[in-house]
Amino acid sequence: MRPAALLLLCPLAAALSGRFWHITDLHWDPDYDPAAGAGQVCPSGGSRAVPAAGRWGSYLCDAPWSLLASAVRAMRSLLQRPDFVLWTGDDTPHVPNEKLGEEKVLHMIENLTSLIREAFPDTKVYAAMGNHDFHPKNQFPGKEHRIYNQTAELWHPWLNNASIPLFRAGAFYSEKLPGSKTRGRVVVLNTNLYYDQNNETAGEEDPAGQFQWLEETLTNASRADEMVYIVGHVPPGFFEKKRGKAWFRSGFNERYLQMVQKHHGVIAAQFFGHHHTDTFRMFYNDTGSPINVMFLAPGVTPWKTTLPGVDNGANNPGIRVIDYDPDTLQVLDMVTYYLNLTHANMMEEELPVWEEEYRLTEAFQVPDGSARSMQTVLERISQDPRSLQQYYEFNSVSYDLAPCEVSCRVDHVCAIREVDFTRYEECVRTSSSASALVNVWLFFSCLLLGLVSPQQALQ
Ligand SMILES: [Zn+2]
Ligand SMILES: [Zn+2]
Repeated sequence: MRPAALLLLCPLAAALSGRFWHITDLHWDPDYDPAAGAGQVCPSGGSRAVPAAGRWGSYLCDAPWSLLASAVRAMRSLLQRPDFVLWTGDDTPHVPNEKLGEEKVLHMIENLTSLIREAFPDTKVYAAMGNHDFHPKNQFPGKEHRIYNQTAELWHPWLNNASIPLFRAGAFYSEKLPGSKTRGRVVVLNTNLYYDQNNETAGEEDPAGQFQWLEETLTNASRADEMVYIVGHVPPGFFEKKRGKAWFRSGFNERYLQMVQKHHGVIAAQFFGHHHTDTFRMFYNDTGSPINVMFLAPGVTPWKTTLPGVDNGANNPGIRVIDYDPDTLQVLDMVTYYLNLTHANMMEEELPVWEEEYRLTEAFQVPDGSARSMQTVLERISQDPRSLQQYYEFNSVSYDLAPCEVSCRVDHVCAIREVDFTRYEECVRTSSSASALVNVWLFFSCLLLGLVSPQQALQ
């Protein structure tokens, strides 16, 4: 093809793809002070000693303002005019409820809302509440609440008129994507209602009527020939860094899964946060074909989790751009940018540089971010140790570079593959016994070859 003809096609190609940001888990710690003495650097560090705390943050702490401002500055310089922004919540530090309160929580939501709005004044932001955006944390009611009202007020510039009463009643809403080229719709959920730490909704069948509303919204979207992104904070399924750790109550997990299976034709993808890690979840139909994918974006906070049983659970701060088809909402590609916090803190006076960590299609050699492509990625991760290791390093945004071995592989692969509680347990059981069998086989092979002694067999 002649260059002139190519040039003619370029505007067309540009029109066929759009881009948006997904950021999550900013967890601002307003009292972060790198100059403070031992045990005083950050309330979010709890009782842990915080060595080498720098200007841009510490792996043991939630984010100082300097880090959050740097993240938003990086977003502006990397992609100033996204089609929209997804912001999936968790704005406050990991400190006990006694150190917070309704006013403090709302004040932090307000400050982060302003930070994002000033950087992207003309951009639509679809914001979801995280389990830390409430007081007491996690205790979201399935009915009207002052915090919902106040948050709706803060997000007023981003919400359509029809979304405001819905938000006040349960902190969920749905809107058509901006622009005439699209038949896209965003559904923002309040999945904090399904969190097993939420005592307000325990025993309820459909808190705030969100499931029924979602059912109707997806049915209407299908009738209107729209395609939908589902956006939320706490995801269904399991935490890949701790075996058997789920977030939803069992009945809610089941109902969410059924919803995706029933309406997958209209759901283009799902975007969630809460894990602070970079991973994804697969959804299948009854015959085992991949029908949907949920992308979990890494957190901006580097905070090392205190969840018992998680080893070295910190991350580098990450932010993400998604390339998509504005008509079908198909995910075309995804670029994750990150700040190497160790390096940033070593550069005395300079502003830190957020670098590209990886591009999905390049790193995993797939054509796009469709469910089918992500199934290919999952198969590579589960079968090829090099792909597993690459995925594992991205999982903590290049913070934890230790080898991901047998039980690590089971944890990650089963969490990605099985959102359903029973099937996950089955996956862990069969994968663990399969790997145990391989170990026994390897051992006896070595024994036969004389590579290990019978003595070693008895230790
Ligand atoms: Zn969080
Ligand atoms: Zn969370």
